Amino acid sequence: MPARAAEPCIRCKDLVEINLAAVAFRGAVRTVGIQPRLESEQRQVYVCVECAIAIAMGDEPPKSQPLNMMAYELICQMTAENPAIVVAAWQQLRKRLQLPPISPNFAEGEILAPERAALRAG
Ligand SMILES: [Zn+2]
Repeated sequence: MPARAAEPCIRCKDLVEINLAAVAFRGAVRTVGIQPRLESEQRQVYVCVECAIAIAMGDEPPKSQPLNMMAYELICQMTAENPAIVVAAWQQLRKRLQLPPISPNFAEGEILAPERAALRAG
């Protein structure tokens, strides 16, 4: 049994195959202040990495949509903390445009001191 099933991206509706990168949202509900305490099953939905980047770089949702706001904040935070989602989206975009796959190697990049970078920039 696979770890996950192919599911549509909740934003673009494209199928997120099990071999594609995505962001998963897990959700469940439970009662508070009600006895007995009830808890639902947990479900999971997916956002493809291209949509995740579009969400992170896009406009903040209206405050009147708290679930969308929570998703926006979580994707922004995760994307800002680590470039893995950006890299996965970039690789997915290259695949969609039928460009050959390449892996970024940020360690090979030259890190310039600020004064050298300013000189090089002109
Ligand atoms: Zn999508």
